Amino acid sequence: KKITIAIDGFSSTGKSTLAKQLANHLGYIYVDTGAMYRAVTLFAMQNGYINAESFDKQTLITSLPNIKLQFKFNADLGFGEMYLNGVNVETEIRTIEVSSFVSKVAEVSEVRAKLVEQQKEMGKDKAIVMDGRDIGTVVFPDAELKIFMTASATTRAQRRYDELVAKGDAVTFEEVLKNVEERDYIDTHRKDSPLVMAEDAMEIDNSHLNRKEQFDLVLELVNE
Ligand code: C5P
Repeated sequence: KKITIAIDGFSSTGKSTLAKQLANHLGYIYVDTGAMYRAVTLFAMQNGYINAESFDKQTLITSLPNIKLQFKFNADLGFGEMYLNGVNVETEIRTIEVSSFVSKVAEVSEVRAKLVEQQKEMGKDKAIVMDGRDIGTVVFPDAELKIFMTASATTRAQRRYDELVAKGDAVTFEEVLKNVEERDYIDTHRKDSPLVMAEDAMEIDNSHLNRKEQFDLVLELVNE
């Protein structure tokens, strides 16, 4: 039986790691909705609609029809990479600069409406693992399995910091921690679809779980 799996939670809780593992194991499609919000943010940055001083929301809203997002499967990586208007932006959307603006872009209702519509369409045949902030509450309220991932802010910042350093980004731990905390705040306080755990979600605090322990735990839930 094919099901829909929704994975939500705070920033850098390892949602995408778990979602990819599950999708590969089950032969399901994996969709990283954060990548979509990040790509819209990159578009806004490239066009000068958002920077450290200002955010021209209205022009971004007007430009939304000019933004085309696609996931193209990369067999070597085993998941779909994000394309913005035909260009592979998988690396560019993961920078700390994009991370510092993305939650502001994700607050805009018109942006959310466009992306949620596309996400619902991608999941209409089930057999999908989707991760984000509002998947179990807004995108797939009827998902058969909903996971909500948490971990302490320092654990999460340390993981994200290690990842960025491994990629050669010049960041400090404090900068990454501040970004994680700021995004948590904006994501939980925005008016439209704030980050909350769905009532029927299973909460997993993975502060003290390794990847394998976490995967085994969730696989049991899938097979129930
Ligand atoms: O998952 P990731 O950390 O890449 O997401 C980046 C940001 O995109 C989040 O901090 C959040 O502001 C926004 N987001 C969202 N809804 C989703 C996925 C991501 O608001 N479903």
